[in-house]
Amino acid sequence: MHTAHPHLPANSIASMWDEQHFPGLNKPHIRYSDIKHIVADIAQDKRVQSNVIGYSCAGTPINRLSVGHGPLVLLAWTQMHGDEPTATAAVLDWLHILLSQTQPSLDANWASLVTLHIIPMLNPDGAEQRTRVNAQGIDINRDAKALQSPEGRILWEQVTTLKPDVAFNLHDQNPYYTAGEQGEAATIAFLAPAFHVDKHVDAPRLRAKQLIACMADAIRHWLPRHVGRYDDTYSLRSFGDNIAATGASTILIESGAYPGDPCRQTARKMNVVALQTALEALLSNQYMKKSLADYYSIPDNVEDGLVDIKFNQLRLTCFTEEFNADISVNVCRKSGEATIQHIGDLSVQQAFDYPASSNLRVLPLQGEVVNEPFILTQQSYLDRLAKGIVYFIGSPDNMTNESELPVLCLPDKLEHPWLKADSPAFWIMQHDNGSTVAVLNGQPIQVTKAC
Ligand SMILES: [Zn+2]
Repeated sequence: MHTAHPHLPANSIASMWDEQHFPGLNKPHIRYSDIKHIVADIAQDKRVQSNVIGYSCAGTPINRLSVGHGPLVLLAWTQMHGDEPTATAAVLDWLHILLSQTQPSLDANWASLVTLHIIPMLNPDGAEQRTRVNAQGIDINRDAKALQSPEGRILWEQVTTLKPDVAFNLHDQNPYYTAGEQGEAATIAFLAPAFHVDKHVDAPRLRAKQLIACMADAIRHWLPRHVGRYDDTYSLRSFGDNIAATGASTILIESGAYPGDPCRQTARKMNVVALQTALEALLSNQYMKKSLADYYSIPDNVEDGLVDIKFNQLRLTCFTEEFNADISVNVCRKSGEATIQHIGDLSVQQAFDYPASSNLRVLPLQGEVVNEPFILTQQSYLDRLAKGIVYFIGSPDNMTNESELPVLCLPDKLEHPWLKADSPAFWIMQHDNGSTVAVLNGQPIQVTKAC
């Protein structure tokens, strides 16, 4: 009997991941010190060739782990943007699984058919600082032509000497992409980058698209609404586009958010599923059954389709204007600071979190001057919030916050007491029943009960 997935080899790799992934890499960020011992352990395996292929600007080794000795050459690199660590964990998991278990869905002699080269963490300096750019401040993925970064030169040297048939460019995207308009979070997005402005599809690019169609199929078994297709506008300075021009079937995988999964373990696992699926599809030639239409059936990866928090239909005031509006708030993953994104009709945007917001009126923002050292206790803060005071004016050095709540200190009194976009997400709301709710750094806190 044929089902939608008559042959789903990815099932076995997914259960292997459940058993075999590195638990120490389940964290919001990954630095070189997190992977150093894992890379060294994997390198101990006699089937693995380990090479230091160069050093970052600040002198950290950049490693390549290679398995297999076949004619089909695959090259994958991760974290060329230092703050995009998800695939670093995934490629190490994948290697570990490939080496530690028999692969029921892979040819027994797969290692004689392919050579797999993996560069986990191309930008260790950016990883250390948790920045996109390297130590020079250069975005390595805009340095493919100029090659002014050591990391960019190392990658380009690998591409020109190894001459990969298939190249995997592994990144993270911001959490606000959706799979299709008004869709769910794009946990994985794929792209077969163009190698020219006219976006011509040659044989290698066709194969990349066919492989992506196979990978998307496998992932949609678990996440039917969380896979997107990234925009293929040609990017002159980017590595993916330039590597595609060498004749490599080049595949960009962007790891994204999944609800309730701040460390992106869902995307991590799905990277392993995707990479294994691509390997199997290449070895079995299954990818040839896929068409361009299969690739284009993946919904667009839509930017800013999501926000972290959305308050629907609040009542606001601005000067004498009273109006109804939604308010969206995003929370910075690095600083934890919540910022108002938009105010208005946000009905097209989805959110990870929708706090209760009916029958609530936003009060004008009131501040209290703090000129002298001052201890803010939980109760004294709640008392002020109940009176409508939501921020403090003066040096934050004067304030010792002993409450368990976030506090907003501003150097000066706000010019207008009305909410606006791009400002910190602190305000107070009053319910029709008289109760008061404070929004402190994006989080609603009940201040007083109904009268
Ligand atoms: Zn990136």
